[in-house]
Amino acid sequence: MTQIRTRFAPSPTGFIHLGNIRSALYPWAFARANNGVFILRIEDTDVERSSQAAVDVILEGMQWLGLDHDEGPYFQMQRMERYKEVLGQMLEQGLAYKCYMSAEELNALRERQIAAKEKPRYDGTWRPEPGKTLPPVPEGVQPVLRFRNPVGGSVVWDDKVKGRIEISNDELDDLVIARPDGTPTYNFCVVVDDLDMAITHVIRGDDHVNNTPRQINIFRALGKEPPVYAHLPTVLNEQGEKMSKRHGAKKVTDYRDEGFLPEAVVNYLARLGWSHGDDEIFTREQLVAWFDLDHLGKSPGQFDETKLRWVNAQHLKACDDTVLAGLVAEQLAKRGIEVDPADERMARRCALFKDRCATTVELADWLAMYLQDVTPSAEDLATHVTDAVKPALQTLAGKLAGVAWEKGAIQQAIKESIAAHGLKMPQLAIPVRVLVCGRAQTPSIDAVLELFNQKIVLDRLHIV
Ligand code: GLU
Repeated sequence: MTQIRTRFAPSPTGFIHLGNIRSALYPWAFARANNGVFILRIEDTDVERSSQAAVDVILEGMQWLGLDHDEGPYFQMQRMERYKEVLGQMLEQGLAYKCYMSAEELNALRERQIAAKEKPRYDGTWRPEPGKTLPPVPEGVQPVLRFRNPVGGSVVWDDKVKGRIEISNDELDDLVIARPDGTPTYNFCVVVDDLDMAITHVIRGDDHVNNTPRQINIFRALGKEPPVYAHLPTVLNEQGEKMSKRHGAKKVTDYRDEGFLPEAVVNYLARLGWSHGDDEIFTREQLVAWFDLDHLGKSPGQFDETKLRWVNAQHLKACDDTVLAGLVAEQLAKRGIEVDPADERMARRCALFKDRCATTVELADWLAMYLQDVTPSAEDLATHVTDAVKPALQTLAGKLAGVAWEKGAIQQAIKESIAAHGLKMPQLAIPVRVLVCGRAQTPSIDAVLELFNQKIVLDRLHIV
């Protein structure tokens, strides 16, 4: 069996968003599912609009999501000599020809065709045919190269998403494959690359369906069979428009900064256009074990941040606490809060709070109280830290000063203090939360307090 080879071929013309990177995830998963090879190719021929910053976000985003490539990154701009070599061969073999039609002539042709209610297309003026006399070559005009598209018949392929597609060759005119300055055009480069890189499966956005028949014809002219194609439906944003930077889509790496886990984003994106039964939450390993091209969705996926947050929350719960501690430490560092890497309580704090959080940013919001001063709101202080409860708080502070710092002893001290003052648990627990944690609601107070430095708790209680 031939080895499966897939590729992701982004154009670095804007910052890559979640919709774009889904087109990396699927070919990656398909290659990994089949012991294949995944190739990264940067399509940077639009020099005006391409940027190194956009390339960096692609590389960083893929690395973050764990979409590792086996070959590349190849850059099309570094392959110009190769494209020119193939152009030369095609010209020599009569698969391409020089066309000297000027832009004005082309415009005039188009206008005549539109006026006659015909589809605008190149009319083959310069296409050599047996027995045909070509017009005299105009002086000082640099020709374009056109591909000699087959006449008659049709191009057919069995798209793994869209099913059988058939396009009549009459719909396709002779494509320009090199500009007057000799630089190759987009569809031609894609074919040469897919051929040279021995791509077996092209999995890409369905905005390329229209290019596919032209690409297939070039493959066949070069004596090769085209790869298998799977054209993925678009990803829509929450407003139902095509996801795009112009419509406010965020960079992939923004999700890292906002506290999403790579496993969760991979899980979410996988589900956005593919399914494995009703499974909503799965690991990267499960995705790789299950991924196939037979269960790709046919309708556009719609991005839903609420669902992404839910998926993230599920992965957060399942995440190893030491790993989470490292991620939360990074979030805290961004706020100028340094965490002692030797403090094993960080992992326990994550374990205690992760059930109530959707992101590591929210987890960092909770854990900050352990590491920097808290400022209870005036309202919470007035409502909960009343004169009636202050004596009980003092009793508790006195008892806590003398206990071994662990949950059981802390709980005991709290129980004794409420008993001594005839209070109910919340009447003491809530003011303790307000003073120590800066908020009125937390998980069980003994478990929360245990993970503080004893001295910090005493200091915060002594404010009363
Ligand atoms: N560079 C193209 C894009 O970013 C992808 C081309 C392809 O996958 O064939 O849309």
